[in-house]
Amino acid sequence: MPSVPPLGPALCRLADSFLRQTGRNHSTTAAAAGAAVLTGALLLAASGSASAQTVDPTTPGSSAFTAPHGASPASGLVQVAGPSPYTLPSEQDSAQEYVAVAANLRTEQAAEPQPEPAAPEAPAAPAPAPEPAPEPAPAPAPAPAPAPAPAPAPQWSAPVPGAPTSNPYGVRNVHYAAGYHTGVDFAVSPGTRLLAVGNATVVSAGWDGAYGKEVVLRLSDGRYAQYAHMSSISVSAGQRVAAGQQIGRSGNTGNSTGPHLHFEIRSANQYGKVINPIAYLSARGVTDF
Ligand SMILES: [Zn+2]
Repeated sequence: MPSVPPLGPALCRLADSFLRQTGRNHSTTAAAAGAAVLTGALLLAASGSASAQTVDPTTPGSSAFTAPHGASPASGLVQVAGPSPYTLPSEQDSAQEYVAVAANLRTEQAAEPQPEPAAPEAPAAPAPAPEPAPEPAPAPAPAPAPAPAPAPAPQWSAPVPGAPTSNPYGVRNVHYAAGYHTGVDFAVSPGTRLLAVGNATVVSAGWDGAYGKEVVLRLSDGRYAQYAHMSSISVSAGQRVAAGQQIGRSGNTGNSTGPHLHFEIRSANQYGKVINPIAYLSARGVTDF
């Protein structure tokens, strides 16, 4: 390696030479430009080169001063050997690599089969399957509707359903031959329909003295039913009638003090052989009076 002269005296000589060459214009800018040249020389000297040279920055075409004349040398570029310290290829590479790696990771993650989720150790009890709607049972073939049984014919009936009684059975009354009321009076207006109280046969139908127009029925149980003071008669002796069948209409005929139905139940078809008509009908389920 060639010997290098001491830097101190060499630099001093270089500075003196520079100042002499630029003495005609000792401006600050010229001094700065000279300092830049000196710095280059110092670098060259420090690198061990023995051929350090100075370049007049004012010389057009100089590689050390490319700025045009008149421009501030401070804005000129100073070419310095060596790579620019401002390029960051490594950092750029690093960033690009990071992006590439991230992309690879995404790709790999997408490509890697995802691990099967671990089966639960204790699988939850399966929800009970909803009960399937029961199949509608086939509707059984509708049995032929039986002919509606005819409503059973009433076996007993009130002589005037719903009519109130106005004079009870058995009340003592000197006006009656028996000394008491042998029947029950129903307070009904003339013309009210009178019904057979049971299945019976018409014993008599017509005028009977104090009873006026009268109908006597022989009931199925051998008892007799008498209807007195009637206004009209619609049956005749010997006719069979059913319970509830109309036999005539109420009136005020005979020995009567007013429109009403005098009704008796007799055990024998003769005067005074009577029983309580209300008790008799009530015992047979008739209560609508
Ligand atoms: Zn009476």
